[in-house]
Amino acid sequence: MRTNREPLTTNHALLDETRIRLEAIHFVRDLRERWAAVPSSELRQFKRVFLKGQQGIFKPAELSDPLSITSTIDSPYNDDPIEGGRVMYDFAPGTDGLKRCAETELPLIYFLQVKRKPNPEYVIFAPVYVVGWDDASRRFLIDLSEQKPGEAISPPPTTRQLMLPEIRTPESPMEIREMTKSYVITTVQRRLQHARFRNAVLKAYRDRCAVCGLGIRALLDAATMADNRGIALCATHHRAFNAGILRIDEEGRVHIKLPKNFEAGEGERAMLLAFNSTRVKLR
Ligand SMILES: [Zn+2]
Repeated sequence: MRTNREPLTTNHALLDETRIRLEAIHFVRDLRERWAAVPSSELRQFKRVFLKGQQGIFKPAELSDPLSITSTIDSPYNDDPIEGGRVMYDFAPGTDGLKRCAETELPLIYFLQVKRKPNPEYVIFAPVYVVGWDDASRRFLIDLSEQKPGEAISPPPTTRQLMLPEIRTPESPMEIREMTKSYVITTVQRRLQHARFRNAVLKAYRDRCAVCGLGIRALLDAATMADNRGIALCATHHRAFNAGILRIDEEGRVHIKLPKNFEAGEGERAMLLAFNSTRVKLR
């Protein structure tokens, strides 16, 4: 796995490091199963190992190589140089560590911030691999497809220097939309779009269910209405919406249609029937 260039302490220590790294990756993968976008509060640490820094390449004290990369939202257009399933990452402090990760194919965690402070949220990709870098443009190429680069069709390059595609800086949000359209929609893209859509919709609805007003972000989804507009719904109302029990017409009127012969108890009345023919404000 490793090159012999750096002195190893003991095999035992290396095993420990591998275990920490793999457990951290399992931990974040489990988190992302449960969260559309993972809140930073869930990510502070794992078994006393810190998982990420504020931004950039992060190496916890317990490991000799980086564990994660964090990209924050700082561009005015909220874009990131992700093309297909790969992201360009500018050289930054910690660069030598990333080059080592490329050479030894060490799995890393990639945190992409999709919601701003306070309480930022992240889309997580893990395991990801550094598949190359370009010293001239001073950028790394990181593959987010969660596949080990060994499965590539072409034989591994003898040098890790890559020809990177030229990425033009878009000049307007319109142009970004055009560029985005031409991108291959991969799982990576879908996950990103989903998280961003949810974030934008929840923001428009001020983190509340449009039907019942529930204001717990962890319980809120962005649903898509017939006209493709997004609407914030709590988990129950989202399921009811998907099941056709809850319908919202163009004017925002709520229609509840319970299954036939359904005897509604107090709880069901409070959760569903109470909102029948109320009007939600569409944003
Ligand atoms: Zn609700």
